[in-house]
Amino acid sequence: VSPQIAALREYADELRALGGALSLLSWDERTQLPAAGGSWRARQMATLSGIYHKQLISTDLERLISAAEDAHPGSAEVRVMRRDYEHATKLPSRLVREFSEASSLSQQAWAQARRDDDFTTLQPHLERVLELSHERAECYGYETERYDALHDLYEQDSRAAELEPMFEGLREPLLELIDAQPPADLSILRRTYPLDAQTRFGEWIVTQVGYDMASGRLDPTAHPFCTSIGRGDVRLTTRYDEEWLPGSLFATIHEAGHGIYGQAFDRLELPSTYGEAPGLGMHESQSRMYENIVARSTPFWERYFPDLQAAFPGTLDDVDMETFLRQVRVSERSLIRVEADELTYNLHIAARFELERSLVNGTLAVKDLPEAWRDAYQRWVGLVPDNDRDGVLQDVHWSSGSFGYFPTYTLGNVYAAQFVERCRQDITNLDDQWRAGEFGPLRDWFDEHVYQHGRLYSGREFVQRITGGGVSSAALVTYLRERFAG
Ligand code: ZN
Repeated sequence: VSPQIAALREYADELRALGGALSLLSWDERTQLPAAGGSWRARQMATLSGIYHKQLISTDLERLISAAEDAHPGSAEVRVMRRDYEHATKLPSRLVREFSEASSLSQQAWAQARRDDDFTTLQPHLERVLELSHERAECYGYETERYDALHDLYEQDSRAAELEPMFEGLREPLLELIDAQPPADLSILRRTYPLDAQTRFGEWIVTQVGYDMASGRLDPTAHPFCTSIGRGDVRLTTRYDEEWLPGSLFATIHEAGHGIYGQAFDRLELPSTYGEAPGLGMHESQSRMYENIVARSTPFWERYFPDLQAAFPGTLDDVDMETFLRQVRVSERSLIRVEADELTYNLHIAARFELERSLVNGTLAVKDLPEAWRDAYQRWVGLVPDNDRDGVLQDVHWSSGSFGYFPTYTLGNVYAAQFVERCRQDITNLDDQWRAGEFGPLRDWFDEHVYQHGRLYSGREFVQRITGGGVSSAALVTYLRERFAG
């Protein structure tokens, strides 16, 4: 590589080193930190974040980017660094500070409002956060609607005008499939599964699908996540419930999907300038693929159900694989997003997308939100909550100022289905491989088509390159029909 690119990569390594230290502090906070250490930890992280931000907006970085641009006009690697820099320097520091304070107060008000089932406690805080979000969006800029400026923070290049038909295309087919499902029976999954055995099985199963334990680990936490600390260190977390097997099992495999993606950048020796995912939707495409398309498939359990039985002696002896699989795939209309199944999940997201788009574009006022929530749920899910705790107060996202985040969950499902549909044309015996516990070829395919490119393409560009078409819910509908209508 040229000296200009080498210098830029060196700077990106420094940024990554600082970012990784922050990630480690955060991982520790959520897995190990004694309660009394909480407030000093917040101080430590704020200090380090400040240093990180200073490095990100430094004129030294701008000079390195300019030099690399002169030496390599049109380089995609330089372009992603330029984009980061422009992004970090767009907001006035006054706005960054006000937003951070307002969203922190608003999250506290949300927790209180949720406990009391009283939206009015949250309302003034949410109004303030939304007002500042409008201001942020105007600073970032957009072409057609304000919502796009915020959504772009989470999924580069994705636009509301394209999300709308994507969600519309899901509504009727999903509701039809959900209503055709047998009555929910989860009795097997609610038997007693000792924590030790759950941990051992989880640690083993993630290595089966391709996560490398020598470059990672798995720890318990309250809200599962995956985090990249540095080269050779991408960690998973999960949560355990002795009376609810899927809580850890599928959450662990979900996080392993994130982990496999995160580990790929180091395995393929990508530089820090672009060795990461381009957005949350792309990251979620990998976690959802391993969690649902792979680990809720018939071939997967044909291979691993005997191991699961052996891992919990006496618990599953009277159960056959088909019955287990039926319970793993239970689907029914529901009110709570985080408990939603594979079919209903996207409808929960569709309702939120519609509401947050109106809030950000200025066509819905915060005071009218609870009523609008009930309307949206009636239309998208066909159920109406009888209190706000099970309605508009269930998620923290908006209180924390994360407008534009929700669609990335469904984009993950949509991308995953589009990618796997194409992958099955290249690898025609994918199911046989899974039935034999072989996941190498699947990962190799993603190495070639996705992982090796890091964030040089956006999600919609990956879709275009891989499928030759645009982002569409059609592949997801086809896959769900095959799985749930059969
Ligand atoms: Zn995820």
